[in-house]
Amino acid sequence: MKTICIVGSGPIGSAYARTLLESGPDVRVIMLEAGPQLTEVPGESVRNLLDPETKAEARTKSQGPLAGDHRAALGIPEDTVVEGSFTARQGTFLLDYGGEGSAEAAQFPAAAASSNVGGQGAHWTCATPRPADSEKVTFIDDAEWEDLLAAAEELLHVHEDPFDDSPIAAALQTILEGEFADELPEGRGVGKLPVAGDPQEDGTMRWAGADVVLGPLTDASDPLAERFQLRDLTLVREILHGDGRARGVVAQDLRTGEVEEIPADAVVVAADAFRTPQLLWRSGVRPQALGRYLTEHPVVVCTVALDGETMRRYVPEEDRDAELARRARHADPVAAALRIPFSEPDHPYSAQVMYSEQPPFPLPEDSPHRDSPWGFVNMGFGLRKHPRPEDGVSFDDEREDYLGFPRMTIRYELTATEEAEISAATERLRRAGTALGHLVAAPRLMPAGSSLHYQGTTRLGTTDDGTSVADPWSVVWGYDNLVVGGNGVIPTATTMNPTLMSVALAVRGARRLADSLRG
Ligand code: FAD
Repeated sequence: MKTICIVGSGPIGSAYARTLLESGPDVRVIMLEAGPQLTEVPGESVRNLLDPETKAEARTKSQGPLAGDHRAALGIPEDTVVEGSFTARQGTFLLDYGGEGSAEAAQFPAAAASSNVGGQGAHWTCATPRPADSEKVTFIDDAEWEDLLAAAEELLHVHEDPFDDSPIAAALQTILEGEFADELPEGRGVGKLPVAGDPQEDGTMRWAGADVVLGPLTDASDPLAERFQLRDLTLVREILHGDGRARGVVAQDLRTGEVEEIPADAVVVAADAFRTPQLLWRSGVRPQALGRYLTEHPVVVCTVALDGETMRRYVPEEDRDAELARRARHADPVAAALRIPFSEPDHPYSAQVMYSEQPPFPLPEDSPHRDSPWGFVNMGFGLRKHPRPEDGVSFDDEREDYLGFPRMTIRYELTATEEAEISAATERLRRAGTALGHLVAAPRLMPAGSSLHYQGTTRLGTTDDGTSVADPWSVVWGYDNLVVGGNGVIPTATTMNPTLMSVALAVRGARRLADSLRG
């Protein structure tokens, strides 16, 4: 029996666990997760929790050093000082939260992470578009790529058109097609945004998290569960290795403080795009490209109050009311999702359009759109950030973070190439907003790090030439059995939500690792 240690329980660690365990009976997996288990089913999306208090508590517990009153119970040192300069999305904490031990990320201030079973996948929006054209990696041929994406879509429970009963979504699509169809290539026009989740018979949505990726692994009645162990509140402090092989990990139980060595035949590190390179660095695994080539897709966003006159052309008011009554049963406000995909050369952006009855922020008392009966649309255009070695995270051996790891500093700059694309995308976003209604928040570029999609810091490459951390199967250069997973492995400039792509690359890595363990 071969033992594989997986660090991190997000969608990527979970994809490794599932694929490895299903590859044959001679593998067992120990998954180690620094954060707490939040839901009865491990890794479920907290968006499915109906009770607002339970949901708020689950989100707070995911926020590591910002977990408030829960910190002591989560093993976060009591003297951790938090000065938080601005708020992170619920369920996440800013890496640069201020205070002793915080990362320094003035150029990437919105960088955020989650610490909980399921990782950010317990909080994500679940948008799962496929990458296109130059967003894809060059070293996987089209047939294999199709197969990997199909496997990833199955693992994540992706649905192409989960809001197919929504007349509001159909109206939004028609209006946006009217504005943009002539400028977009065949097959790449305005369409539905695939999302990870299972539409329920009563019209509600059960959003997917790492729970669906783990699937049978957490079902005690399934034989696969016998070979799977998930330990929450267990922080991996070091990867043990020598002579080009990983030998196991050093893990600390955050409930008791106890430290133990866990031997393993292979180690998979899927601890997000900042903490994966940090753990490698701390363990003395330091390829030249580690932490470098950081990209995210910059995002320009706006909020629109839908225009009644325009909408009534496509949706009778009674249909709208019937749809909103159906949606009122949802635990989560998103009720329709559209996109305009990336296409080269003229539309190097991914547009995401999310319908919601409520605005994402309170409108001023005197706003004429405060009680808009047609609801709101939050829209964003994601853009490319071209990879450069100088953008990235570095680690300081002399100064520790709040957990005693080498402190992070993030350096990151947009160049004239990105600035030009940002201006062009902002203009398109304004056009989209004006076509749909009234801009209640004008198009604006979000602070760096806001996308929550951090890539490149453990990037894959075809040769060990200092520009990549791992080979095309995610094995760290110079090692036989040390694997990295997560958005950090993506080497290209992408504009879309990356989790589907990272799960596809994880499936590839897991298949290869299973083969190599069999010898
Ligand atoms: P994570 O989910 O971040 O999990 C990593 C885990 O590793 C964490 O739980 C962490 O505690 C654990 N860990 C770290 N260090 C250690 C250690 N030393 N020892 C043990 N455990 C450790 N992506 C999309 O594609 N589409 C979306 O619509 C989308 N929306 C999002 C919305 C929000 C609000 C957020 C927060 C994220 C969103 N994302 C979205 C991003 C998506 O959630 C991530 O891409 C995905 O979760 C990455 O999976 P992962 O397993 O690589 O990392």
